[in-house]
Amino acid sequence: MKITIIGTGYVGLVTGTCFAEGGHEVTCVDSDVNKVKVLQEGGMPIYEPGLAGLVQKNVAAGRLAFTSSTQEGVERSEVIFIAVPTPALPDGSVDLSYIESVSRDIAAGMTGYRIVVDKSTVPVKTGEKVAETIKRYGKPQLEFDVVSNPEFLREGFAVEDFMKPDRVVVGVSSQRPVAAMQEIYAPYQAPVIITDINSAELIKHAANSFLALKISYINAISVLCEASGGNVQEVARGMGMDSRIGGKFLEASLGFGGSCFPKDLSAFIHIAETLGYNFGLLKEVQRINSAQMDRFVKKISDTLWIVKGKSLGVLGLAFKQNTDDVRNSPAIELCQRLQAAGARLRVHDPQAMEKAGAILKEVTYVADMNEVAEGCDALIIATEWPEFKRLDLERVRRGLSHPIIFDGRNLFDPAEMERLGFLYKSIGR
Ligand code: NAD
Repeated sequence: MKITIIGTGYVGLVTGTCFAEGGHEVTCVDSDVNKVKVLQEGGMPIYEPGLAGLVQKNVAAGRLAFTSSTQEGVERSEVIFIAVPTPALPDGSVDLSYIESVSRDIAAGMTGYRIVVDKSTVPVKTGEKVAETIKRYGKPQLEFDVVSNPEFLREGFAVEDFMKPDRVVVGVSSQRPVAAMQEIYAPYQAPVIITDINSAELIKHAANSFLALKISYINAISVLCEASGGNVQEVARGMGMDSRIGGKFLEASLGFGGSCFPKDLSAFIHIAETLGYNFGLLKEVQRINSAQMDRFVKKISDTLWIVKGKSLGVLGLAFKQNTDDVRNSPAIELCQRLQAAGARLRVHDPQAMEKAGAILKEVTYVADMNEVAEGCDALIIATEWPEFKRLDLERVRRGLSHPIIFDGRNLFDPAEMERLGFLYKSIGR
């Protein structure tokens, strides 16, 4: 099928590329002309495992192209996906101005029947607004359908998640677009749930809020473990083997961040409020999450006594492993809080140093993870990159002026770290 994706970011580029890999003919549109230029010249604007090779392959096969012209994208394809940002406004509600603007652009470019698919994460009832907007700004009598098709991929595993999704959710208001949506997703052999648009939009916020809740739940348990001498990993193991609970998202840490969970959580709380429901449960999820960061910072300052003037090594800047994305990264927040307390920082991330450089100033960026602790008073682990588990701990210990490690991701075994001579403080153990 001919497909256009509007918004070529983490979601749009992965979606477009994986559709092309599935045999579809894809045009990716982005208003950022520099990003389009980078892609047209064979470069990659983001780091996502496995993506660069797939982009190259599908461009070479003539199935994937990039443009900054929405008009061109709308003309080329019958099915148009919207994957633009839906950031949070200061009151926690969602800024839908990108969605509205793209809806108007699509309306202006439409000459015949189009299926307009919203892949961005949006509040329930946004589909109705998109349909109204297209009707208002398009030529009279134009036929179109609006579809909600929320995306569930995880950055860092995005290609894998897209190619083998647990399920595909498709919200429609008529039968007409269903066959096309089924054809688009046929190569991925996942169950396709056909539902109404409002339910599809709710599924996305409900699912993300539930995952955030699961993380905050285990983080709350980590507080009890620290207070009682339990081990949160043992508790999580014992809980997670119950198939009704499941072991995923039961990893205690310094808290969740990223471009999705915090914003989707506050959006859902706000959506609930506008629908007359006080979602106190989710407010508590937010509170636990920020308390977890406070507790980690306190652990550092309680141990070092005075943070001002201390030199600290920080491993990890991305909001999680396998990505260069630093949007709303807990690691960056941690660095900023330590800087505000007067610490000097040496930092390393396998992929995110360039993007972090735009936000995190006056730190020393260190290319080798084993050198980050050199001359520092303590080392902090802020992101769960798998390579950090292969740190040369002997060298780290020799490099540190005091062998102290604060591990916000529980990467190491406390008994082993003690044996190696570290004062090792992790989460809930
Ligand atoms: P992103 O910022 O990486 O990408 C969005 C892209 O849209 C940018 O390249 C931007 O230049 C482009 N854009 C903005 N306005 C445009 C316009 N008028 N015309 C054309 N292009 C335009 O964002 P993202 O992380 O890909 O997220 C996109 C949506 O998907 C959001 O609603 C997000 O909540 C949702 N989502 C994200 C993830 C994730 O892991 N990142 C997962 C699931 C859902």
